Amino acid sequence: MTELTGGPSLPQERRVVTAIPGPKSLELQARRSAVVAAGVGSTLPVFTTRAGGGVIEDVDGNSLIDFGSGIAVTSVGNSAEAVVRRATAQLADFTHTCFMVTPYEGYVAVCEQLAELTPGDHAKKSALFNSGAEAVENAVKIARVHTKRQAVVVFDHGYHGRTNLTMALTAKNMPYKQGFGPFAPEVYRVPVAYGYRWPTGPENCGPEAAAQAIDQITKQIGADNVAAIIIEPVLGEGGFIEPAKGFLPRIAQFAKDNGIVFVADEIQSGFCRTGQWFACEDEGIVPDLITTAKGIAGGLPLAAVTGRAEIMDSAHPGGLGGTYGGNPVACAAALGAIETMREMDLNAKAKRIEEVMKGRLAAMQEKFPVIGDIRGRGAMIAIELVKDPATKEAHPEAAAALAKACHAEGLLVLTCGTYGNVLRFLPPLVIGEDLLNEGLDIIEAAFAGL
Ligand SMILES: *Cc1c(COP(=O)(O)O)cnc(C)c1O
Repeated sequence: MTELTGGPSLPQERRVVTAIPGPKSLELQARRSAVVAAGVGSTLPVFTTRAGGGVIEDVDGNSLIDFGSGIAVTSVGNSAEAVVRRATAQLADFTHTCFMVTPYEGYVAVCEQLAELTPGDHAKKSALFNSGAEAVENAVKIARVHTKRQAVVVFDHGYHGRTNLTMALTAKNMPYKQGFGPFAPEVYRVPVAYGYRWPTGPENCGPEAAAQAIDQITKQIGADNVAAIIIEPVLGEGGFIEPAKGFLPRIAQFAKDNGIVFVADEIQSGFCRTGQWFACEDEGIVPDLITTAKGIAGGLPLAAVTGRAEIMDSAHPGGLGGTYGGNPVACAAALGAIETMREMDLNAKAKRIEEVMKGRLAAMQEKFPVIGDIRGRGAMIAIELVKDPATKEAHPEAAAALAKACHAEGLLVLTCGTYGNVLRFLPPLVIGEDLLNEGLDIIEAAFAGL
């Protein structure tokens, strides 16, 4: 067997030895441009050779500090020991049978973990898929067949994927929807409690936004036409918006009172990312269905819908599934990732990352008024950038310039937000505190140079 050179054993240091991207990455980028479709973009076109802990090494020998985790996926780090061990053993045993043809234990074991870890002590069942979007699509299928209703309610700034149905569920047009319509019908969008931009202020936002959303649902759709309400307990691509307190419980209660399936899309916020197994635990929400993906399997493609047994069992045999859904290697990786989360207490690590980041960012906000808002939980932290803190006019140019400056210094950061003015930080939960602080030093220097 070839020796593993990445993963946790990779030297945990930032090292910038060429321009970023360097000459070898530029060469590969030229090859890529000739054969890879232009619609598939890259935040930072440095070509990876190894990654692990809190760093990504590239073909030119640079080592970047990773504040992205491949978009909240490698929460346990790249090539985490337990993920490699279990997935490697599974690869050697068998790679695929199709669970719908002849089943295997790993799939069942992942569903057992999901039943145990997701909120609520009711009987739960799961179905496994390949991607987040596929999980969300299936949650809608299950909610519709269960309720015998069709309408689906989603929220401003929500993101749920790039397939046809999930494009309809996603709020932002560019780049996700532009030119790709027509979109799936019976999707309705209502306001979310975006505290920072709520006209009457963040204190009033939760109850007021909930009242508006519920009013629109009852007046424009009719509550008894609604199959599902789908919300991210912390909105991801839309700008790491934490719905103001009181909003989620009110919406969940409304769903319960009206026989609507309440779906928490925890694809980005789940699996220790926010310092809890699932972000909806923060306000004690017990969703009817919960969608997971990203952090679940340490980088292998896996997604799930988990929920109340009686809802999950509404779909007839053969109605759910897919050729690869719950692939045995991905299931083995998920069991390794969950083992790592438990053994390393990654919820505690995420909380510590929040403490360090929020402390440093608050000090930066004193000096740099372009930081309008600092928000998020655990290792899902963001800053919203504005031209003037009084008007809160969005400053996407600042977000782009800061990201560029960080990249040049060897710190990978991502942007997000409906207005493109949010810098988001999603470090692996296993990142060392030295690297975390070094990354924050780079961000601070980037602000100083803005
Ligand atoms: C990423 C994401 C999705 C889509 O997942 P894919 O695996 O990219 O299909 C759906 N919902 C949320 C909240 C996400 O962050």
